[in-house]
Amino acid sequence: MKQLTVSAETETPMVPKKLPAYRQASRLTHPQDTIVNLGTYAIGGPEFIVMAGPCSVEADPQMLGTAWEVKMSGAHILRGGAFKPRSSPYSFQGLAEDGLKLLAKARELTGLGIVTEVMDSSDVDLVESYADILQVGARNSQNFTLLKRLGKANKPVLLKRGLMNTVEEFLCSAEYVLAGGNHQVILCERGIRTFETSTRNTLDLSSILAIKEKSHLPVIVDPSHASGKANYVGPLSKASLAVGADGLMIEVHCAPEIALCDGDESLLPEQFKELMLSLTELAPHFGRSISTLTQKEPSAANNGW
Ligand code: PEP
Ligand code: MN
Repeated sequence: MKQLTVSAETETPMVPKKLPAYRQASRLTHPQDTIVNLGTYAIGGPEFIVMAGPCSVEADPQMLGTAWEVKMSGAHILRGGAFKPRSSPYSFQGLAEDGLKLLAKARELTGLGIVTEVMDSSDVDLVESYADILQVGARNSQNFTLLKRLGKANKPVLLKRGLMNTVEEFLCSAEYVLAGGNHQVILCERGIRTFETSTRNTLDLSSILAIKEKSHLPVIVDPSHASGKANYVGPLSKASLAVGADGLMIEVHCAPEIALCDGDESLLPEQFKELMLSLTELAPHFGRSISTLTQKEPSAANNGW
């Protein structure tokens, strides 16, 4: 018969802990933090990674202008949606492949890696051929067909928390990607639906603590979609750094008042610059660094994409 070992200190039997449903995402099976490599940067280590750019890719000057601005302010990665999940079918749906081409042009110009959303399994090959990080939006966070397909992708996946998902459900969604063989998963807390209406969503900063306790995967915060208000983005970004997030995703637009999507929550380039300066100063107080602003000459090729 199998014998139970007994700890000398507590005299309690050492029964192996039951694994959660998100077993590969769990710290029980992988105690050390996962670090996802992003060009010359990595997420999940000491560098606090900032992804920034417009909600949607709208046009050449808008995308390239914003890309250059966020690069000069110290962003590590450029964001922009070419496939947009909109509540109304009559709202701007994104430029699809033309948008991906503009993102690729922006990468060429700035050296920034690109994160962009893929909404459908049938688009994964196309989006993967342009993007450096594949984003799964909140509305698709439990699209298990898409998650399974992304388990076979060769690029890192940025998985947003679903609008109504618990932390455990969120980790189970990540598990679908890990179980498919893709271990490069970055989680993103972007606020959840609650009874509160003073903000677009309710930013659950405690989830960062819960995720760090339960999982080894890196986790970033999107204060733009969480709050829906540009003037809340700075304070929530600083709070995210303080609570232990590995980075941020922030919406920035050169002319938010005419943005085709999410202008109210988008920072102007100068507001983003100011925020990056404060975050760079604050980061060492929380055991982090932001090295992009201290590098001498930002050049188009220095991010290694
Ligand atoms: C986005 O980041 O463009 C987006 C649509 O966000 P979310 O999926 O979090 O609503
Ligand atoms: Mn948006």
